Amino acid sequence: MEKNQEFIVTIEDMNEDGAGVGKVDGYIWFVKDAVIGDVVRAKAMKMKKSYGFARLMEVLEPSGSRVIPSCPVARQCGGCQLQAMSYEEQLKFKERKVMNNLIRIGKFAENEIHMLPIMGMEEPWRYRNKAQFPFGKDKGGNVIAGFYAGRTHAIVEAGDCLLGVEENREILDIVKLFMKEMKIEPYDESSHKGLVRHVLIRKGFKTGEIMVCLVINGKKLPGKERLVEMLCGGDGKDEKGQGINREGINGKEIYGKETNGNETDGHGIRGMTSISYSVNQEKTNVIMGKEIVNLYGPGFITDYIGNVKYQISPLSFYQVNPVQTERLYGTALEYAGLTGNETVWDLYCGIGTISLFLAQKAKKVYGVEIVPQAIEDARRNAEINGIKNAEFFVGKAEEVLPEQFEKNHVHADVIVVDPPRKGCDTVCLDTILKMRPERVVYVSCDSATLARDLRYLADGGYMVERGRCCDMFPGTVHVEVVIKMTYCGDKKK
Ligand code: SAH
Repeated sequence: MEKNQEFIVTIEDMNEDGAGVGKVDGYIWFVKDAVIGDVVRAKAMKMKKSYGFARLMEVLEPSGSRVIPSCPVARQCGGCQLQAMSYEEQLKFKERKVMNNLIRIGKFAENEIHMLPIMGMEEPWRYRNKAQFPFGKDKGGNVIAGFYAGRTHAIVEAGDCLLGVEENREILDIVKLFMKEMKIEPYDESSHKGLVRHVLIRKGFKTGEIMVCLVINGKKLPGKERLVEMLCGGDGKDEKGQGINREGINGKEIYGKETNGNETDGHGIRGMTSISYSVNQEKTNVIMGKEIVNLYGPGFITDYIGNVKYQISPLSFYQVNPVQTERLYGTALEYAGLTGNETVWDLYCGIGTISLFLAQKAKKVYGVEIVPQAIEDARRNAEINGIKNAEFFVGKAEEVLPEQFEKNHVHADVIVVDPPRKGCDTVCLDTILKMRPERVVYVSCDSATLARDLRYLADGGYMVERGRCCDMFPGTVHVEVVIKMTYCGDKKK
């Protein structure tokens, strides 16, 4: 096979990135945008010794799992790798991927692992509470807001990302109109000129509160009062004479407002609670700048996961799919099996979402997290919820836990871990084995490292009791898993 040569291939699998995988004469081809079961005509693009990458030219026989993507720019965007697959098949794909990793990498027998059916979403759209849109210009010089195409930095105008909330589009229209009025230019990466780089939008799904933060290449935002007026409504230009419309703030009526294209109707955005800008004058791919200038509201929005209340500022970490987060962490709580007497360690605790969830049912919860800012949030979140039995440490799990164990002889009935993709450090796992909690609850966003770590714990005397996948990111290849392990060291021998 030579470069640019076309060939026909049957797609038999999908890789970690959601590309279709097929074989021709024993040679493996990765074909982006092809779905398992498709027979496709593909064009050879790049070839390595034992595998190559090909471009999808034509679907000759569509797979039974194939659907027409709901988003018109799904292929250009690349953010939703699985949009051409029916949701049911996406869920099956994710469950299979996790099980395969547990068997292949974790060396577990299929009957050793009892996985409950994956928790999918009833409505797998508009689940993201956060969006960051880059600003730029199209060829005609018009200001556009959208996303970076594929892995490039070319901005494609996105009418409406179907993973985001409906208000996103209205807000972007208002910001564009504001820029036009004030003659503000979008940022241009190549010349490092222009002002508006990104717009960050967040929404509290339970409260309806909305945050808008402009990321700008400058210290000042000209006409900032006007921006506030336009976003909040009540700018005096409303023909119907209506003022700020904020009845949606307490979560009752927050949808149902139609957008009217490029103009704002002067009503502003329902639920608008926090407006700010972030200064980012660096030549960098990092979106947010460190400095936040508050223009309107308290500087944060409020939201709930379960009964726990969170204050979210522009720089705070917060789970992007709050509906599924509640289900995932609800399962973690169930697996922790708390009666009120337990001491629990929550490693990699972030802003303490799991810790605070567990604290309501445990005697004491200790959280450990490497990012100091996240721990500040965790402590404040504990305080605003009146939770007094949670304590937080800043540091690496693999340092804090051994230190606390060796010096202070701390004890754990249950240890929960929710590590980043690379999984747990072996020092951390060794300490867990030494502390020997009755139960370990492992929450994972990468089933390959999960499988590796579960094997380590299994060899140390733990048994996988049950587990469940949770679809936090429909349309994408990502899947979260929660596993309950119990100590059975002696019984095993
Ligand atoms: N459960 C958390 C999210 C966990 S994401 C929540 O809901 O907020 C994984 C977290 O692990 C991130 O916050 C990351 O900053 C943190 N982290 C990464 N490496 C770490 C380490 N070695 N020790 C402790 N925390 C770490």
